[in-house]
Amino acid sequence: MRQDDQHAGGGDSRGRSVDATFARLLGWWTGWAVRRDWADGSHEFVGFRASERGAARFARRDGNYWRRGPWRPTAYAVVAMTRAGFRLHAQVQRCQDAGCPGAQRSAGERIGVAR
Ligand SMILES: [Zn+2]
Repeated sequence: MRQDDQHAGGGDSRGRSVDATFARLLGWWTGWAVRRDWADGSHEFVGFRASERGAARFARRDGNYWRRGPWRPTAYAVVAMTRAGFRLHAQVQRCQDAGCPGAQRSAGERIGVAR
């Protein structure tokens, strides 16, 4: 699905940091979520946290959980988003929308999965 562009991280050319700053000034920014990408090209957002560090911690723990299985995420990213956006996205199954936060390499901080 496509995130509402007036919320943080619309995935447009402005880039995440500008979006996040702008959104925070206006009070839309509420937290961070972990984006999990799968081999089939779909993604999901999990581990919503108030702090970027909290979300990064979640991503590391989650990576450790999945790495033993045959089916594991191909990438993690911590992205800024609103709580409302996070809730909305949770209703989408196997989302493959390139407009979602963290879709571009430049957006969001890539976190290596421990091997
Ligand atoms: Zn999506």
